[in-house]
Amino acid sequence: MMHVLKGDITRLDFDVIVNAANEQLAPGGGVCGAIHQVAGKALAAECWKLGGCRTGQAKMTHAYELPCKAVIHAVGPIYSGSPKDKEYLEAAYWNSMVLAYDFMTKNHMDHLTLAFPCISTGIYGYPKEAACKIAIRTVQRMYAQYKDTRHIDVTFVCYDEENYMIYKKAMHVR
Ligand code: ADP
Repeated sequence: MMHVLKGDITRLDFDVIVNAANEQLAPGGGVCGAIHQVAGKALAAECWKLGGCRTGQAKMTHAYELPCKAVIHAVGPIYSGSPKDKEYLEAAYWNSMVLAYDFMTKNHMDHLTLAFPCISTGIYGYPKEAACKIAIRTVQRMYAQYKDTRHIDVTFVCYDEENYMIYKKAMHVR
């Protein structure tokens, strides 16, 4: 199942949250800054040891002071207008889901709640409607591929009203 919510991803109760990270895995601004602020300095220290993360890739860390169990740091593209942007944004969502399934396997879970922010649609400038379509389609594609008894419940957590309206419309939520 996919859901949409308006709110602050650091304050909501999910098993795993995704961070819209940068290639350095540095605290930075936007949702990434908020996640690091709530998690505390130990998160930046663990991220530092990971040695960065390429655009389109994702890496998992502990959650420290955050209410979730783990954080997936996914690096979306800086929007440039090239066809690669779409590929990288798809990969960021896809690879986050792969890590979430791995986490379930390791922890013997058959159900997991996962929250995504609207990756790349802030500082990285990806057009919001296009990014929303990619996010939803990629999760659908993943659900079609992992047809087993385990399930990841995905929530798109929108912080700004514009994304919230776009996601509600795309998911036919009233
Ligand atoms: P990027 O660099 O990938 O564009 P940003 O953090 O600038 O990342 O923005 C990504 C999205 O995260 C934007 O839609 C922004 O409104 C949203 N955002 C910012 N703070 C939060 C938060 N605390 N919780 C959820 N989403 C947030």
